[in-house]
Amino acid sequence: MLHYLIYMSHATHPMSDNNLDEILATAVKNNIEKDITGMLVFIDEQSAFSDHGRFIQVLEGSEETVKDIYKTISKDDRHNQITELFSYPIKQRNFPDWSMGFKRVSDASSVPDELNKWFDPDHFPKAMNKEGMNIPLTYLRSFYDIHK
Ligand code: FAD
Repeated sequence: MLHYLIYMSHATHPMSDNNLDEILATAVKNNIEKDITGMLVFIDEQSAFSDHGRFIQVLEGSEETVKDIYKTISKDDRHNQITELFSYPIKQRNFPDWSMGFKRVSDASSVPDELNKWFDPDHFPKAMNKEGMNIPLTYLRSFYDIHK
């Protein structure tokens, strides 16, 4: 059974392009071996939400593999405040061609307000209950639709 998981987190230090390239190189190498696909977005900003930027990532693959890799990623000290948003079965992959797509978003004002709410603990439960709208997945998938 295919499964997907989306989480968000906060970078623990400023992320240079080299720092992000390192994360991505490891992700791509491991994910190809494990048949994991997905998308990682780094939102590069200092804000009320974060000091050094935020990550949002979707992982898809077999349930066991997705949960295993998420466990590993959760222990990584390059980020913290890791919050699982969704973990559900899916019929088909949303990112079938990407072992791990990546986008560094430097203009944080381009991040939809709807998505920002997910990073704001005061709004999180309300946004979470919004019926039928997986806002984080829609955002992540928008990069795939543009670049695939
Ligand atoms: P290792 O051989 O242990 O390390 C691979 C490389 O990463 C080495 O160059 C090592 O120096 C460097 N590295 C490892 N840990 C750190 C650290 N704490 N600080 C600085 N450098 C370090 N892994 C995946 O497999 N798939 C993913 O999709 C994925 N996504 C990630 C998303 C984020 C936001 C972050 C922060 C990490 C992600 N990782 C991902 C990495 C994951 O957390 C583990 O580091 C990795 O899976 C370990 O794999 P390995 O044992 O093959 O690598």
